Amino acid sequence: MQTHFTPAQLADPAMATAESIIRKCVHCGFCTATCPTYVLLGDELDSPRGRIYLMKEMLETEAKPNAEVVKHIDRCLSCLACMTTCPSGVNYMHLVDHARAYVQENYRRPLADRLTRALLAAVLPHPARFRLAISLARLARPVAPLLARVPALRPLAAMLALAPARAGRALPAPPAPAAPVGRIALLGGCAEPVLRPEIRAATIRLLGRMGHEVIAAPGEACCGALVHHLGREADGLAAARRNVDAWTAEIEGKGLAAIVVTASGCGTTIKDYGNMLRTDPAYAARAARVSALARDISELVEGLGLPPVTRPGGMTVAYQSACSLQHGQKVTSAPQALLTAAGFTVRQPAEAHLCCGSAGTYNILQPAIAAQLGDRKVANIERLKPDVIATGNIGCATQIAARTGVPVVHTVELLDWATGGPAPKALAQHQPFSA
Ligand code: SF4
Ligand code: SF4
Repeated sequence: MQTHFTPAQLADPAMATAESIIRKCVHCGFCTATCPTYVLLGDELDSPRGRIYLMKEMLETEAKPNAEVVKHIDRCLSCLACMTTCPSGVNYMHLVDHARAYVQENYRRPLADRLTRALLAAVLPHPARFRLAISLARLARPVAPLLARVPALRPLAAMLALAPARAGRALPAPPAPAAPVGRIALLGGCAEPVLRPEIRAATIRLLGRMGHEVIAAPGEACCGALVHHLGREADGLAAARRNVDAWTAEIEGKGLAAIVVTASGCGTTIKDYGNMLRTDPAYAARAARVSALARDISELVEGLGLPPVTRPGGMTVAYQSACSLQHGQKVTSAPQALLTAAGFTVRQPAEAHLCCGSAGTYNILQPAIAAQLGDRKVANIERLKPDVIATGNIGCATQIAARTGVPVVHTVELLDWATGGPAPKALAQHQPFSA
């Protein structure tokens, strides 16, 4: 795509990066077929190609974006299906991240939207606040139908509808192996330990069975993906720097074999820390080292080798490939290969490339589109008549579990169960599988 940025604009490294991404787009439109919002809405401006055009105009002119431009950028899920499809290697992720930060700086959103976004940024990345919010949501849930009638309050209604009945209780960590073969840092993060602490427990048990000591680096917290995708660039970079500091202390102290992540949305962001902090001389090298050590749990277990399987197989697993894992990290075969090796019959639903609509805070900020995508995903999954649904991201698990009676678990919970751990909580609560 031809661009018309001025030399002064291109002196800004962020703008120069955006320009080089835009120039790679050859307008072929291959990406439109796999873009969930284009598939649903059929509007070119809700396709990757249309959005690239809008972002180019916005950045080139350095104009304040209008509501129409912001609407189409906001409707993007950041699912990155377009990056998997694009034959020209357009890095849509870095472009839309830059555009979201530009919008945040240059556009005054309506009051309700500003308040909702501020609330999400202030609560979700902080586990203690998130726990409190879940308790309050339980009390407020009866008014959700009333809130849903007021367009400006629909995100609040969606938030109440998605909130679980109660936060999960932190589980005691299993003892580390007596003579560990390696030391691995496990991201604690923010939402996952509050919603499903059993994922962390299963990960520590599985890696312990494989001979690894699992640690939580002091000072590590939310990866920053949530605020980063809201366009709050400074907050996202602050989170990245804090975690780089925490993991660097471990790398340079007792050493780390890997930084393992069980929420693939977080994994995509941590693997991008090297890029996010590339212009910060104090952090660039250390951030790149952290990114290079980051692994999704399925990648790590595949690389190290699954422990012996002790549980008889026979269950059918519908594998929901989280966008952040398949498109963001290009991890597609490892989870399915591991589940198969663990004795499960693994099936993938039709339209596996399409987002389930969770996408971070998307199912709160764009509840109508997210609901359509969630219903479509669940219909495709239920056609497989699975015994259980496995996914590698807490967002997908929450979005899908809200729409189906089939138990939804994290892939690692099944791997832990198959190799000697307890039945996953969601399965144990399901009578036919309580063994
Ligand atoms: S990230 Fe997803 S929703 Fe956004 S343009 Fe690409 S395919 Fe479409
Ligand atoms: S597939 Fe790639 S090159 Fe083609 S229109 Fe989409 S982003 Fe541009």
